[in-house]
Amino acid sequence: MQFETPNRYPRRVTRQIVLRHPTNPVAVGGDAPISVQSMTTTKTADVDGTLAQIYALRGAGADIVRCTCNDAEAAEGLAQIVPRSPVPIVADIHHQYKRALEALEAGVHCLRLNPGNIKNPDHIKLVAAEAKDRGVPIRIGVNGGSLHPDLYRKYGDRVTPEAMVESAMTELAYFEEVDFHDVKISVKASNVPLMIEAYRQLSEATDHPLHLGVTEAGPLPGGLLKGTAGIATLLSEGIGDTIRYSLTADPVEEARAGKQLLEALGLRERTGLDLIACPSCGRAEIDVIGLAAEAQQALADKDLPLQVAVMGCVVNGPGEARDADLGIAGGRDKGHLFVKGRNVAVVAQDEMVETLVEWAEFITEHGVEAALARVDREEAEAEAQRDRAKLLVERGADVNGAGARIERIRGIERR
Ligand code: SF4
Repeated sequence: MQFETPNRYPRRVTRQIVLRHPTNPVAVGGDAPISVQSMTTTKTADVDGTLAQIYALRGAGADIVRCTCNDAEAAEGLAQIVPRSPVPIVADIHHQYKRALEALEAGVHCLRLNPGNIKNPDHIKLVAAEAKDRGVPIRIGVNGGSLHPDLYRKYGDRVTPEAMVESAMTELAYFEEVDFHDVKISVKASNVPLMIEAYRQLSEATDHPLHLGVTEAGPLPGGLLKGTAGIATLLSEGIGDTIRYSLTADPVEEARAGKQLLEALGLRERTGLDLIACPSCGRAEIDVIGLAAEAQQALADKDLPLQVAVMGCVVNGPGEARDADLGIAGGRDKGHLFVKGRNVAVVAQDEMVETLVEWAEFITEHGVEAALARVDREEAEAEAQRDRAKLLVERGADVNGAGARIERIRGIERR
């Protein structure tokens, strides 16, 4: 039975903007699905290298890709990248408003401006007016690490949620002066509680769609944990319309993490592998950690939209992972293959990964019912029962000897 998540926090209502890619437009906000973003690490002037990375990011789950536009060569690169990109391209503008105008001329689908870097109101309004004429949205990307110096001073030489929100709202006011409203906003910080509070306050202050992220989260696995802590907390409160992990890693990891987070929260339909595995314990009859890693590697590249379980023992494994499409549970020198919790085959230990892959491909192509009809399940179930019974007799229901320990504890008490 699938668990239905109680809707404690309905998604916050936001206005919608659209990144107008000619064949793959992406809406952000409103009732649009939450999108995943990442950023290329190549020099944007390296057109082929950047395009190769954009395609890799798209393959890993990115809906939108950002490229730096830090010099005139990068802007020229964008002019060649944009028409060949399979997803909308956002140009990241740091200090020079002219780079923003050049990126618009290159045909980008969105700009990102950092209010801490482009400070002249006339320049900001000029860029907004030009973006308005071209129907290109802008992200106001406030960053705790590069807050406008005036705001930093105003809030006691500290980065506070209030300062970050004020920075975003001041920039928004400049945009509104030129009647430009096609805006999404981010208030990222590397400090997770600060970032969470800034977004909470921002979501009270405006109905513009929000781009979530924990900036400079660092390498794996810590960066992944920080990103998840911040992004998932806010998504669970109904806040956020598009997300980006900022990892010190191959950006493909960012896209993959974004996609997997949305799938884990039930905010995106699963399109890839979800490998679950038990943590292993005294009952395990196989090397769960090794087998899970091998299975992950063998299945991941095939990108099959299945949940696959690797469980240490046949006593509890198939039952505990009964929702998985396919799984394997350790028996004495063998593995018990199961489909939706029902035993279907017994496999020699050295053939477990290969068999999992073969069944995963079969289920993807023909479905669960066809897989169940494929074999003599009675024989597989009978063998699993025999293994279960043998393990329970050998090790007993009490693997850790708790019964004997309790008797000894009681003996101490009686002394
Ligand atoms: S499935 Fe078996 S081996 Fe894995 S944690 Fe549960 S009882 Fe232990």
